[in-house]
Amino acid sequence: MPEDWQRALAVVAHPDDLEYGAAAAVARWTDAGREIGYLLATRGEAGIDGIPPEGAARIREAEQRASAKAVGVGTVEFLEHRDGVIEEGPALRRDIAAAIRRHRPELLITFNHHDTWGGTVWNTPDHRAVGRAALDAAGDAGNRWIFPELARDEGLEPWGGIRWMAVAGSPYPTHAVEVGDTDVERAVASLAEHQAYIRALSDREPAEYAREFLGSTMEIAARRFGGRPAVAFQLYPR
Ligand SMILES: [Zn+2]
Repeated sequence: MPEDWQRALAVVAHPDDLEYGAAAAVARWTDAGREIGYLLATRGEAGIDGIPPEGAARIREAEQRASAKAVGVGTVEFLEHRDGVIEEGPALRRDIAAAIRRHRPELLITFNHHDTWGGTVWNTPDHRAVGRAALDAAGDAGNRWIFPELARDEGLEPWGGIRWMAVAGSPYPTHAVEVGDTDVERAVASLAEHQAYIRALSDREPAEYAREFLGSTMEIAARRFGGRPAVAFQLYPR
């Protein structure tokens, strides 16, 4: 992965997407002094079968803030799109372009925008919509005339400084970040902060569940990247 950057913005659909896909790399980067912000399109309010959306939104927003803190991320913002039915289109691109102009990142991180997780495991519509809209918004953010109201009404001048877009959780990874034991421990703690969510889908303790899940994904990445624990990304240079 390129290392000559200072600011990144990660744009995903739901609380937990970054913890499943990228947290160990984020821990390593923030330790090295990089600034990383998180932008979530929803509060994941449709994610827990036993808890209606209003209550789930509050719980999951708090869990996401704690997760981010565990890997050194203090800035977590939420958009007002509706979990499960996010529409890929100009409204979403505009919201993401506005965030890109505020954060001025060199690296844009998002989550698997492909149809599947690889093979025949179908992805969710929200991941596809937000991943694709984020990749598109990297260009929108730099164009003064696509969403002219951002500069006119909100004072957000164009930002064309994104040099790479990195997709976590992609079935087609091209690059990887080697991570150490400390990074992995922090990523486990970060995913385990999604307690209500994990308890609803597993009988296991959140930390135990997180360790097993992240251990297996890093091992799969390691097989493809020289045998070392790694977080893999599909990189689109700009
Ligand atoms: Zn998700």
